[in-house]
Amino acid sequence: MDTILVVNAGSSSVKFRIYSIENEGMLRQQLKGQIDGIGSRPRLRASGGEGDPLADRAYPIDAVPDLPSAMEIAGAWLRDELCIHPIAVGHRVVHGGPDYDRPIQVDHGVVTRLERFIALAPLHQPHNLAPIRSILANFPALPQVACFDTAFHRTHSAVADHYAIPHGLHAEGVRRYGFHGLSYEYIAKTLPKIAPKIAKERVIVAHLGSGASMCALSGGRSIESTMGFTALDGLPMGTRPGQIDPGVVLYLISEKGMSAANVQNFLYRDCGLKGLSGISNDMRELETSDSFNARLAIDYFVYRIGLNAGMLAAALQGLDAFVFTAGIGENSATIRARVASQLGWLGVSLDQAENARHSRLISGSNSRIPVYIVPTDEELMIAQHTLSLLTKRPTTNARQERAS
Ligand code: AMP
Repeated sequence: MDTILVVNAGSSSVKFRIYSIENEGMLRQQLKGQIDGIGSRPRLRASGGEGDPLADRAYPIDAVPDLPSAMEIAGAWLRDELCIHPIAVGHRVVHGGPDYDRPIQVDHGVVTRLERFIALAPLHQPHNLAPIRSILANFPALPQVACFDTAFHRTHSAVADHYAIPHGLHAEGVRRYGFHGLSYEYIAKTLPKIAPKIAKERVIVAHLGSGASMCALSGGRSIESTMGFTALDGLPMGTRPGQIDPGVVLYLISEKGMSAANVQNFLYRDCGLKGLSGISNDMRELETSDSFNARLAIDYFVYRIGLNAGMLAAALQGLDAFVFTAGIGENSATIRARVASQLGWLGVSLDQAENARHSRLISGSNSRIPVYIVPTDEELMIAQHTLSLLTKRPTTNARQERAS
C-alpha cells in the first residue's frame, strides 16, 4: 500500500504521521508518532490509526543528539519494524518568505533558498529544514514537499502586507506574513462542507493553541491575520506576549542590558500566559487555578481576542461567521463562552449546552452570527498537498519563478 510520511520538526522534537493513499486519492491516517527530548531525554512514542499504542522507547542521550539522528531512528523504525516505505514526504516549513505562495517539491536549490529565511524564523526554520536535508542526503530519489505556514496568507493586499517603514526593508522581506496558514487553509477547505453559503462570506477563524492567531477569511481567502513578520505578534500565547509596543524591547535592551539573544529568548519563552500568570503556559492549569494572576492571564487572553476580532471584522467590513479551532479553541468551553460574550456587540450569542458538548455549531438560535468549532488538521493538509504535487503536473508559481 502506498503511503505518505508527514514530518513536523521543532527544536527538541520531531512529530510524524503516516497516511495511506486509498481509493480515489483519499488519505487515511495509519499512525502518528514523535521523538521528543532530543538532546536531553530522547523518547520515541507512536500509536496506530485507532490510538492503539505501537511504541514507547527511551534512548540514551548520545544515541539521539540532534534532529538528523532522530529522523534516522524514526525512519529505521518505520522501515525495518513496520515495513513502511513512504513514496513521498511532506514537511511543515514555517517560512516560505515573500515568494512561495503554495507548497513546492524540494531539491537542493529550494533548500538553499529556504535557508535565506532562517533569519526571519530563527527558532523554527533551521529545525524544519534539518530533516529535509537529511532525507535529501540519504534518500535523494524520495520526493519531498515543503508546505509553508506563510503561504496561505500571500493573498493579502499590499496595504495588509506592509509596515509603515522605509520600502527597502519591505523589499528585503520585512513584511506582515502571517502564520498558522496550514491550519487556516484546512478550515477554509472544510467550511464549505459544513456551511456552504457561509464559507463564501466573511469569517474570522481563531486558532487558539499554544501558538495563537486569528485570520480574516473572505470567500475562503485570507485577507488579514493577527500575526506579522514573526509568529510573535497579535494574540498572547502560551509563552509569547503577542502585540507589544516595540518600546518595551528598547527598554529591555537599554535599561536591562539584554542582548538580542536574551530578548529573543524572553519573547518566545517567558511571556504570554506563562509570564503573566507566573504559573503555567497551559490553559488547563490556569483554568483550575484560583490565583489572581492566573485569572488575569485568562482575562487578558480573552480581552485581546475580542480586540483583535474587532480589528478583523473591520478588515472584512462585517462578519458572517466565527470559527474556533486548535487546542484551546476546540477543547475549552469556558474560553469559548468568554470570547463569545466579548463578541456580543457583533450579535454573537452561544447555546451553552451545545458549547459544553463541543458541538460543531455552538451559537444560539438568536445569534446574529453562527459560531462553529472546526477541529484543525495541519498534517492532513500537508499530506494532501504532498499527494497532489506528486500526482498533478506542477502549476507555475509566478512569484516562485521570480524568486529563483
Ligand atoms: P495546540 O497547540 O493546538 O496543541 O494546543 C495546546 C494547548 O491547548 C495546550 O497548551 C492547552 O493549553 C490547550 N488545551 C488543550 N486541551 C484543553 C482543555 N480541555 N481545556 C483548556 N485548554 C486546553
